[in-house]
Amino acid sequence: MALARCPECDNAVSRSAPGCPHCGHPLTPATAESTPLDLATGTPSSSVALASMICGISGLVLLIVPCIWWLSIVPDVLGVVLACVAFGKISRGQASGRGMAITGLVCGILGIIITVPLLIFLQYMFSDAASD
Ligand SMILES: [Zn+2]
Repeated sequence: MALARCPECDNAVSRSAPGCPHCGHPLTPATAESTPLDLATGTPSSSVALASMICGISGLVLLIVPCIWWLSIVPDVLGVVLACVAFGKISRGQASGRGMAITGLVCGILGIIITVPLLIFLQYMFSDAASD
């Protein structure tokens, strides 16, 4: 519980209290005024960066799963996109988690680099087999 000083009697009062218990001075308007506007849009949070990292890593994990490995392109692309969103937020000071965003970006790009040539290669294999 955070404590504040009553502007009227200078006693320590809880920030969540509607008024000073010592002198009855109302505290809610003052605390609402001192609340940063950024709190409404979200305090520096790493949720986007975390989502990016999870997508990037799950994309790499999916790569080693037979039959559905090619689906890894979805979390790979998501990881790269979310990393870009996270970098934008971080540069504006709206988010943290640069390390996680970098992990998501690197894993996502790595997954795309592995998956796309494999898909193209398989596409050629299948089209060759069909024409024979
Ligand atoms: Zn007071």
